[in-house]
Amino acid sequence: MERYQGKGVYGAVAYGRISVFKRQDIQVKRERTDDPAAELVRLEAAKAIAADQLREIYEKALKEIGETNAQIFEIHMMMIEDEDYNEAIVEMINSQQVNAEYAVAVTGDNFAEMFSSMDDSYMQARSADVKDISNRIIACLAGAGTDVKSSDEKVVICVDDLAPSETVSLDKEKVLAFVTANGSSNSHTAILARNMNIPAIIGLGEEFLGRIHDGDMAVVNGFTGEFLLNPDEKTVIAVEKKRAEEQEKRELLQKLKGKENVTIDGRRINIFANIGSLENIGAVLLNDAGGIGLFRSEFIYLESSDYPTEEEQFRIYKRVLESMAGKKVIIRTLDIGADKQCSYFGLKKEDNPALGLRAIRLCLSRPEIFETQLRALYRASLYGNLGIMFPMITSVSEVEEILKRCDSVKAELSACGIEYSDNVELGIMIETPAAAIISDLLAPLVDFFSIGTNDLIQYTLACDRQNPDVEQFCSTHHEAVLRLIEMSAENAHKYGSWIGICGELAADTSLTETFLRMGIDELSVSPSFVLKVRDAVRNTNLSGGKT
Ligand code: PEP
Ligand code: MG
Repeated sequence: MERYQGKGVYGAVAYGRISVFKRQDIQVKRERTDDPAAELVRLEAAKAIAADQLREIYEKALKEIGETNAQIFEIHMMMIEDEDYNEAIVEMINSQQVNAEYAVAVTGDNFAEMFSSMDDSYMQARSADVKDISNRIIACLAGAGTDVKSSDEKVVICVDDLAPSETVSLDKEKVLAFVTANGSSNSHTAILARNMNIPAIIGLGEEFLGRIHDGDMAVVNGFTGEFLLNPDEKTVIAVEKKRAEEQEKRELLQKLKGKENVTIDGRRINIFANIGSLENIGAVLLNDAGGIGLFRSEFIYLESSDYPTEEEQFRIYKRVLESMAGKKVIIRTLDIGADKQCSYFGLKKEDNPALGLRAIRLCLSRPEIFETQLRALYRASLYGNLGIMFPMITSVSEVEEILKRCDSVKAELSACGIEYSDNVELGIMIETPAAAIISDLLAPLVDFFSIGTNDLIQYTLACDRQNPDVEQFCSTHHEAVLRLIEMSAENAHKYGSWIGICGELAADTSLTETFLRMGIDELSVSPSFVLKVRDAVRNTNLSGGKT
């Protein structure tokens, strides 16, 4: 058995036979032509066929993965007509008197190179798209189709990288998993795999391609990114067991999908999902969450080697909002500090970082960072139903300062003629005992509270959440914690705010009834817990006494 480590892009496990993906290999040669005009005619005809193919793929993608994800093929159709791209091809055919295939191949490579050398990871990932459309045009020029057929048996597709159109063209009935040597998690192939619910691993490295053969057996663990080549019997048995467990969960999921989050006696609540990046949205939709209750935006900063620009952030927030298609999306402003350190922030080493300059304290002391994020958020607000939430609040003056900064960012945007939505809800996290105790003073200032139980427990019980030696003191059901939550819920409602819980405790179904009795309006949990919590809500009856 050989083991390779990549990055899992869709969490599921598969075991099966490998099929090494082969493309129709079209060798592009440089050929001189005496008739460039004829080459231009061939080029136009090939582009028209390519556009027809893309339209068909778009229709297929629309049915299989939804409008937002299918948009990439609309973009491909636009790329085919891109002025710079076409001018470069035509110019090469005319000036160098070469065949159309060669001009398309060279131009495609040049554009792909240009994209991959950009700093922005999103733009880098577009390099695969331009290669994809160039290969399609070349195949059309050669009279070959590019649609890919898989074998008769369900197989693990292994390949250097899959173009988005190749991913969609595959017959999903025949694909157990995708495994690629290259690829980025931001690539559309990764996004599509996630949204098609196919276990997938990317970035296993070129070496693994040299080691595999058609017919070899493999385990693909999309949760951990682990790829096992020709596993032993014991491993196969363990994998089969995990698959059976997953199957059971999927059945529960099917049963509860589309159902309301309503108690036996008719009380409705929202069950939202927590995410750390765009990559988690597939899981949010798959698990039928009603919205996003916590987007930990600091992961954008943690995954970056320098401060993410306003434009980079705007693009991410816009995509989350669009993907959620009008459902609530609560984005928490960055919570850097404590256990989430970012070297380029140049923060001083602290003896007690959890009690130090973290989250909102950092943002208010570095307004340029905070305002860049706020600008990106407000600009993105036009594309969906946005809520902004602020972490680690301890005082009224902090909230007043935050509101002032939001107003000044909005005024600045208006002065520049940049539009934003007027319906952005503003909320704060209740994750310090101080915030819970003064929740009567904080509630009138905001639209909602969200309880961060991970920190609330740590600060209430004086238990470092990172230290396993004090875990025994970290009693998650401690009366002190529950009273703080109840107090916050009462005060929220008294002043017309709504209240949710987004810490891990929200998924503790032994407390679901308690939370509902406290009047909690929303529970935001990891995507894979949404249906478990829905099940608990639907089995709760609040009309009798406490159970
Ligand atoms: C919390 O503290 O409960 C919370 C949701 O925030 P984080 O876990 O990111 O600190
Ligand atoms: Mg927290």
